[in-house]
Order: sequence, then structure tokens, then C-alpha cells
Amino acid sequence: MESNRVPVRAGLWKEKAGPDGTPRLIGSECLDCEELFFPVQDSGICTFCQSRNLKETVFSRKGTIYSYTVVMQRPPVYYQGEVPYAIGFVELPEGIRIETLFVDCEFEDLRIGMEVEMVFRTLHTDTEGREVVTYMFRPVSAGGEGGPKA
Ligand SMILES: [Zn+2]
Repeated sequence: MESNRVPVRAGLWKEKAGPDGTPRLIGSECLDCEELFFPVQDSGICTFCQSRNLKETVFSRKGTIYSYTVVMQRPPVYYQGEVPYAIGFVELPEGIRIETLFVDCEFEDLRIGMEVEMVFRTLHTDTEGREVVTYMFRPVSAGGEGGPKA
């Protein structure tokens, strides 16, 4: 990643973590109760069974839309990206739901259960002129192999 681009938060994903060499979201898996967490549990403790027997796990880059909503108004503080935007949860094959923004689509085309894949996009530019990058999900049909459609 170029030096003028920074992740929105450290530790959400890992470069080349996927079997195909692509970046993947990472989290924690409890080896005792099999609960999954995203992002990584910094405490090192499973919040379900209090086990400290956690290991880092790599998630799939494709999943399905579990829920979503289209937000028309700018929220007060943390979000500095474009408005309107679509936000919701993607359910991954591992059985975890991850909060995400949805991109590269007409929001009215979004559907519960639609297959989506992870991409990286600039969320906003920070006060030092750096592009703040985060993961987002887009419909698999949106770009195919050739990238996002115009
Ligand atoms: Zn546990």
C-alpha cells in the first residue's frame, strides 16, 4: 500500500492473507467454544466463555448481505465519507456477520441474501492529505474481473 494511504484502523485486515494472495479480513476464533470475533479481540479473552484460548483467523472475501440500510443524512461525528451511503451486515461462510459499507451499486438494487465480495476503497482524506482506506463490500455482479463499472 502506498505511503499516502492509511488503513482506517490497524489490524482489520492482512495483506496477502488469502490463498490467492489477496488481502483478507482477520479476526479471532475461540478454540474452546468456536465463537468468532471481528475485529481481533485485543483483550485476548473470549467474551462468551472467558477462554484465553483464542487464535487469529482469516475470513472469506465473499459473503451474502444479511441486512442493510441506506442512510440519507450525514451522521454527526465519525463518518466522513459520501452521503447517501449504504451500511449493513455481511454474513460470511464462516458464520460471522461483519458490519460494512456497500459500494459499486445502485442502492435500490441491494437485496438481502445477495452475494457480495470485499473491495478496498478510500473513505475520506484526512487532515494530512492521506487517503483513509477501508474494506467495503460490493455485489459480485457489479464488476466481475474487470473492476467496478463506471
Ligand atoms: Zn469462547
